Amino acid sequence: MYQPIVEAQSGDIASFEALIRLRDHNISPYEFIRVAEEKGLIIDIGRWVLKTAVCQLYEWKKNGTSIRPIAVNLSPKQIKDSDLLEFLQALLMEYDIEPQFLQIEITEDVLIEDSKEAITFLEKLKSVGFKISLDDFGSGYSSLTYLTFMPIDKVKLDKSLIDKYLNSDYASIIQNIIRIAHDLKLLVVAEGVELQEQCELLKEIDCDYIQGYFFSRPVDPDVAEKMM
Ligand code: C2E
Ligand code: CA
Ligand code: CA
Repeated sequence: MYQPIVEAQSGDIASFEALIRLRDHNISPYEFIRVAEEKGLIIDIGRWVLKTAVCQLYEWKKNGTSIRPIAVNLSPKQIKDSDLLEFLQALLMEYDIEPQFLQIEITEDVLIEDSKEAITFLEKLKSVGFKISLDDFGSGYSSLTYLTFMPIDKVKLDKSLIDKYLNSDYASIIQNIIRIAHDLKLLVVAEGVELQEQCELLKEIDCDYIQGYFFSRPVDPDVAEKMM
């Protein structure tokens, strides 16, 4: 499914995030992705998601839709998928899609096992034109230092951070994180935004993008197409 990410000031759809579902099962992706990671299935599932997103872009383009980039979540384990970059490049070539239409979301967990290997991998992705977002920022041990050395373009503020601090008493905390991100030339997405008041605040404190149920839940491709 695809959830729109909206430009805070204009309300235009800037991009979509691809979010996997198990058809006919009510098992949350948090749960089955974890199992897929443990069992090593995430490599194939990850490639399937990437291919599905690129095929979707191709379909939309063929229909004459003016397409928006799709962001795909990459599990830390996929860094070990040694020819993932070649797979991606072949995919884009086959469907005639430019790399800026595919964005990659990673979490700070990529740094856990071999941070050097992870950084090299992300740098390679960036060098061929993929935009990279640091997902779930503020949910774990997130350090502002990560923002200074990871090869990323965007940072996504986790719902827990938004829920806790995006209110009239504490919004300056979010505002200061946004300022630091902007000083580092990073764009900022606020995740899990459910309320109009949150949107108003985010616009005031200069957040770039908003994602959340307030605008839309993740939707099927045909609904996403109508939204565009
Ligand atoms: P995530 O990458 O942080 O994705 C955002 C999650 O927040 C999604 O949950 C989305 O449906 C949900 N969400 C968005 N807006 C709101 C809101 O306003 N309120 C609330 N309560 N929730 C909101 P979802 O789709 O259940 O996915 C859960 C997690 O599973 C994702 O978190 C991501 O870590 C993982 N995941 C999903 N699809 C993939 C995939 O294709 N590959 C990998 N590796 N992981 C995936
Ligand atoms: Ca994500
Ligand atoms: Ca997230």
